[in-house]
Amino acid sequence: MLDEAVTQCDPASAAPPPAAAELGRPPGRRILCVFPLYEPSLGSLEYAYDITGTLRAFMPPQGLLVIAAALPEGWEVRFVDENVARAKRGDFKWADAVFVSGMHVQRRQIDDIRRRAHKYGKVAILGGPSVSACPEFYPHFDYLHVGEMGDATRALFARLARDCARPERQIVLETGERTPLEDFPIPAYELVSFDHYFIGSIQFSSGCPYRCEFCDIPGLYGRVPRLKPPQRILAELDKLRACGLTTSVYFVDDNLIANRRALRELLPVLIAWQETNSFPLSFAFEATLNIAKYDDLLEGLRAACFTTIFVGIETPEEEALSAIDKEQNLALPILEGVRRLNAHGMEVVAGVIIGLDTDGPDTARRIIDFVDQSYIPMLTINLLQALPKTPLWERLEKEGRLSDEAGRESNVVFKRSYEETVETWRDCLRHAYDPARLFARYEILTQHTFPNRRPRPRPPDQVTPKNVRRGMAMLLRICWKLGVVADYRRIFWAYAWPRIKTGRIEDVISVGILAKHLITYARKACAGKLNASNYSARLR
Ligand code: SF4
Repeated sequence: MLDEAVTQCDPASAAPPPAAAELGRPPGRRILCVFPLYEPSLGSLEYAYDITGTLRAFMPPQGLLVIAAALPEGWEVRFVDENVARAKRGDFKWADAVFVSGMHVQRRQIDDIRRRAHKYGKVAILGGPSVSACPEFYPHFDYLHVGEMGDATRALFARLARDCARPERQIVLETGERTPLEDFPIPAYELVSFDHYFIGSIQFSSGCPYRCEFCDIPGLYGRVPRLKPPQRILAELDKLRACGLTTSVYFVDDNLIANRRALRELLPVLIAWQETNSFPLSFAFEATLNIAKYDDLLEGLRAACFTTIFVGIETPEEEALSAIDKEQNLALPILEGVRRLNAHGMEVVAGVIIGLDTDGPDTARRIIDFVDQSYIPMLTINLLQALPKTPLWERLEKEGRLSDEAGRESNVVFKRSYEETVETWRDCLRHAYDPARLFARYEILTQHTFPNRRPRPRPPDQVTPKNVRRGMAMLLRICWKLGVVADYRRIFWAYAWPRIKTGRIEDVISVGILAKHLITYARKACAGKLNASNYSARLR
């Protein structure tokens, strides 16, 4: 049994870390990279997997694919995303070492992969955002890689090259000198099958200049965004296409306008790439709402075929936004910001938080009014959680307002009573995902936002016999599950039939998938069968 004590290892004082190329072979190593399963959430789409056939996960994980690509030459690698399929006994037996990465929400599953690795006597190594914020969560892993890719990564590879046995004590390697983002290898997209993913993923920048009280991004990745050059993004897009992606790409940057000048340089390059390649992909991204102030950026995003934006609206209450240091959302009236994004063809997906200190008896009403007035179909409505090492965590700890009481759905002791807060969350979900209201909002989106998108020819690699068969199979399953079995079948047909008659099958498939997931999730959550937060894995 591994001694649980932690040995802090300064990579600089470790045996001199050879560069990856110098490590060479022998000895080659066999590395199994395993990405843990997510808990169900509003954004996970798992309640639509009975419709989607081989599609089993939203997008491939960037971080682990970058690490897979960075392995020394001659090392073999297998990649398993447990959101697609569970790692098999044969995978663990094959490996010399097991690499895991994940977020706090995946904490239980992260440790389960470690348990399986150890069952087969394999050394277990954990990196990624959760361990970087809270190494103390993971006392049983053999190696912890804390921080981004850098000198700790080289030190880790050097140690594994020398010896792949489990160390007697846990070894913690912490990055002091980060690898510049532009020197990251292109993620090993060739290890995934895009048959299993709704969309692809790509990273342009890391870090965010803002300081929202609840967010751990500035602490983890810094407030001065680091960037890749635009040409490098094109190389990654080319590789994604070569690996079989034909749909969309999600920019996983925490805030794509973290550096506006850099985005202004990227957009013309992306537009030219789309035009040269006959518009093969559309894009989705995350950004702060103040992006809606900049006409030139909105025009550029539209011309480059950005069609979906996730915005952390958090709350429509202005005093609450000031209280959580999210004043960037007040750069223009929130509804006007949403309209301006819609006017440039972008669907807005909104993050909303319940349980802020400013919440009162009117909060549910105000959020419900916002849902109705914004016409945003998809809102991730979650209970506030305090993430370790955020300003929120520090404040609540000082105020004695962190709780680890069993059975609670949040670690925050709210100013309102716990019961009132959870009921507010359920009221908002019930309203937002009432089938008639949800399909009405999708009706407005497809009629008033989609036509604002840049027209583009249908990419030839999308219209393959395989894709047509897959689309028809999904349509049939949607018609059965939503049009026959569901108790909201009349509402579904009122939306779907005019579109089927006019050949707008894609609108039926995409909305059918999302609606089935969102309605099922909301009903389960309101019945107390699901957690109230994407971060509800116990944090304290
Ligand atoms: S804008 Fe987004 S990424 Fe930046 S600090 Fe706020 S919540 Fe975090």
